[in-house]
Formats: sequence, structure tokens, C-alpha cells
Amino acid sequence: MTYLEVIEGSVQFGERQVLKNISLTVEQGELVTLLGPSGCGKSTLLRMIAGLDPLSHGVVKLEGKEIQHLPSRKRQIGMVFQSYALFPTMTVFENIAFGLRIQKLSKEVIEEKVLKILELVEMTLFKDQLVSRLSGGQKQRVALARSLIVEPKLLLLDEPLSALDARIRKQLQLEIRRIQKELGITMIFVTHDQEEAMRISDRIYVLTEGELAQVSTPEGIYTQPKTQFVAEFIGDYN
Ligand code: ADP
Ligand code: MG
Repeated sequence: MTYLEVIEGSVQFGERQVLKNISLTVEQGELVTLLGPSGCGKSTLLRMIAGLDPLSHGVVKLEGKEIQHLPSRKRQIGMVFQSYALFPTMTVFENIAFGLRIQKLSKEVIEEKVLKILELVEMTLFKDQLVSRLSGGQKQRVALARSLIVEPKLLLLDEPLSALDARIRKQLQLEIRRIQKELGITMIFVTHDQEEAMRISDRIYVLTEGELAQVSTPEGIYTQPKTQFVAEFIGDYN
């Protein structure tokens, strides 16, 4: 069974149709990237899957069940943003534990879970540091940990590395891929960076102006671009 399925999903803001009948599938344990220029609708597609932007038409299925009518908090879908969205005046530990608070777990269980996830994102040494004192890359590791600790069915990452410099960015691309494989978690990763998409993905959906231009493996997109748009967009990679 297909893990996540969007069937002819459309999103409209006023008169303007921002996503036009998009159909997409993601298999369990897969890392799929949405790649396209700024303004093509990548964030809207993620927000639609997460339940933050309503569909004007279409179906979203997770594990075979329709979820388009469910509110965001009932979808068990996590999200990581470019801007981290962490609490700057809390410690790393407190930020990561925050998502568990509403689950009424004991202090010991919370501590055990946080320590385990800190190890996974290699931030154990920073446990008691204030988030405001961390570097961008470290903040994004904490944001990742905070999303993962509640064990979402699906993790959506919206240009998580776009604010980081090239070296840290490459490092975190590899880290995200390692963590994704280690946990076997399903991810949708958004970027406007061709090279990043090539490096990190199992499959890539190329978007342009609210529509899908092509879906393929990184090799497929690179060696057999289906349209002139894809060829030119990927061509910038060289
Ligand atoms: P991307 O993430 O690929 O840069 P977005 O999904 O953010 O693109 O935006 C796609 C288009 O939809 C843009 O033209 C943007 O201005 C428009 N848009 C996004 N959100 C809204 C909104 N809430 N209201 C009106 N227009 C929006
Ligand atoms: Mg965006």
C-alpha cells in the first residue's frame, strides 16, 4: 500500500489557484524531495499535506485512510522549518521535551526519550545550553529532534537548510539522510537547490507554477529531463 497519497490536490487562495491537481505518492521509509523555484507552491503543498492550508479539491491519504478532513493536530505529521521555530530562552533539553509534555509521561520516561534522541542528532553535549546560544546548524539539529521525539508518521521539512552556509549545509544533508534511514522514517523534503535534491533524495518531484513537471530518481531527472523547464532548471546545477 502506498504510504502517503495526494490525489488531484488543489489549493486556491481567493481567485488564484496555487496548486493545480497535484497527484503524488510517497512510500513508507522513502525520502521524497519537492524541488522547484521560489513561488512554485512547495510550501503550500507541504502545508496542505500537514493540514495547515485547506484543499479546494482532492484527496490526501495516509496509510490508506483519507485525512483531508482531519485537523492538523490529528494527522501525526511533523514539520521542520527554515526558521527553526524553537523557544530561544529554553534549553535544548526543554525544547525537545516540550512536545512530550502533553502526553503526560513520567519525568524519567521523558528524560530517557530526550537523551536517546539527543544522541541520534549528536547534540548530547549541548543538553543544558540555551537555544539562543547555538549555531544555525545546531539549532536545526534540535528542531529535528523536537519533531522526531513524538514519533510522527511523516516528517515534512521546508527548506530546513537554506539559511546555513555551504559546509554546514552539506554536513546536515548527510545527517538528515542518516537519521532518516536509521529510523526508517518517511520524509518529504523541500528545497529550491538542485544539488541538495540530488544528494539527499530517493525520488524528486519537480514543481513549476503549481504543477508537477516531472517525477523521477535523481539520476532520471538529471539524465532524462522531460521538459525544457526541467532541463534548464537542472542545468543550473552544473
Ligand atoms: P514556494 O514555497 O515554492 O516558494 P509557496 O507555496 O510559498 O511557494 O507559494 C506559492 C504561491 O502561492 C506564491 O505565489 C505565494 O505568493 C502564494 N501564496 C502562498 N500562501 C498564500 C496565502 N496564504 N495567500 C495568498 N497567496 C499565497
Ligand atoms: Mg516555500
